[in-house]
Amino acid sequence: MSISIHMNPDLFKIRKDFPILDQKVNGKPFIYLDNAATSQRPQQVIDRMNEFSHRFNGNIHRATHFMANKTTEAFEESREMVRNYLNAVEPAEIIFTHGTTESINLVAFSFGEAFISKGDEVIVTEMEHHANIVPWQMMCERRGAGLKIVPFGDNGVLDLDQIDKLITDKTRILAVTHVSNTLGTVNPITEIIAKAHLKNVPVLIDGAQAAPHFSIDVQALDCDFYAFSGHKMYGPTGIGVLYGKRKWLDLMPPFLGGGEMIDRVTFSKTTYNEIPYKFEAGTPDYLGAIGLGAAIDYLNRQDKPMIERYERELLLESTLKLKQIDGLKIYGEAPEKAGVVSFNIDGIHPFDLGTLLDQMGIAVRTGRLCADPVMDHFGVENMVRASFAFYNTVEEIEALYIALIRLKAMF
Ligand code: PLP
Repeated sequence: MSISIHMNPDLFKIRKDFPILDQKVNGKPFIYLDNAATSQRPQQVIDRMNEFSHRFNGNIHRATHFMANKTTEAFEESREMVRNYLNAVEPAEIIFTHGTTESINLVAFSFGEAFISKGDEVIVTEMEHHANIVPWQMMCERRGAGLKIVPFGDNGVLDLDQIDKLITDKTRILAVTHVSNTLGTVNPITEIIAKAHLKNVPVLIDGAQAAPHFSIDVQALDCDFYAFSGHKMYGPTGIGVLYGKRKWLDLMPPFLGGGEMIDRVTFSKTTYNEIPYKFEAGTPDYLGAIGLGAAIDYLNRQDKPMIERYERELLLESTLKLKQIDGLKIYGEAPEKAGVVSFNIDGIHPFDLGTLLDQMGIAVRTGRLCADPVMDHFGVENMVRASFAFYNTVEEIEALYIALIRLKAMF
């Protein structure tokens, strides 16, 4: 039996926290199923950011006045909240960036400069978002290193045996997504990290699609780096996180220069600040960081096991429904899957589907989903993707199903 918003007072309350959902789009009740691209913000996050916009503003870390102290305090409080959310050992291991993309670029550049030389190798997987491919390619080109790829099967499951074969004594780092943004696959990262560590290879986890949905414990995982974005976890845009083990961050050179990252500047030599500041050049998006802290506070107040169960229910319900549509193919059916369903319907261009669904008030993502290699794997140009958050309802999935049936009949 499906859980429905009407049967669960907690979900009714959660839904009320997200004012954007309570409106009409194109004259129809708004149904937001593009959460993997960006999630919506609860009133609590909006209020916290508004409070700071209205009452407190001063550039952080740089002055002794009241306003600067207020924002610096809130910024560092957010860092502590992120540390706690990830169970990192110390706040110094939490670096604020502009998002997952910047976090991965930071590691690819700085780790690459410190530890990667000509002839070395980096491993990524076939199901990565471009943000976890291109920075490594750029670094490999710069350093004369090679990129190796772990393939996945048509069910969307990584071929783990390949990892053992691909790791050699030249492998310097392995980068893998926790949850695929196209296939929804939840990768067995504990196992992958253990395999890599057995051969002394550090691991970066792209957590953009996992951090909003699952509890993350970087110490239990023993990952070396973990990256995620604020805007996908009910926080603001422009803020992201890189967790890194101190043993690596201390040895990595800065990524960008200027601002808080310096210790002392002279024309003959500049020395650098300690972590995390060494990696936070220029004025950071401190309002964004404060908003992210509010989003984490909001998530911490929810019943996480209930949310995980409920999101799984939404995935099962949507898969079951969509499979009833003749000519609809779902890409990625891993046994361990998050709330992402990518599909195509025979004879209907995904962009037409996306545009017509929008006219019915339903927002889905269409296109190449920033994952060209996944498109190539299945030999398709584009896909339609519905992705869920804990504020979605079974009724909304039913509305998607009915809309798709109607559109199929139309074509
Ligand atoms: N990695 C994955 C798995 C993603 O889904 C995304 C965004 O969709 C990114 C990285 C990039 O995130 P951002 O654009 O917030 O930097």
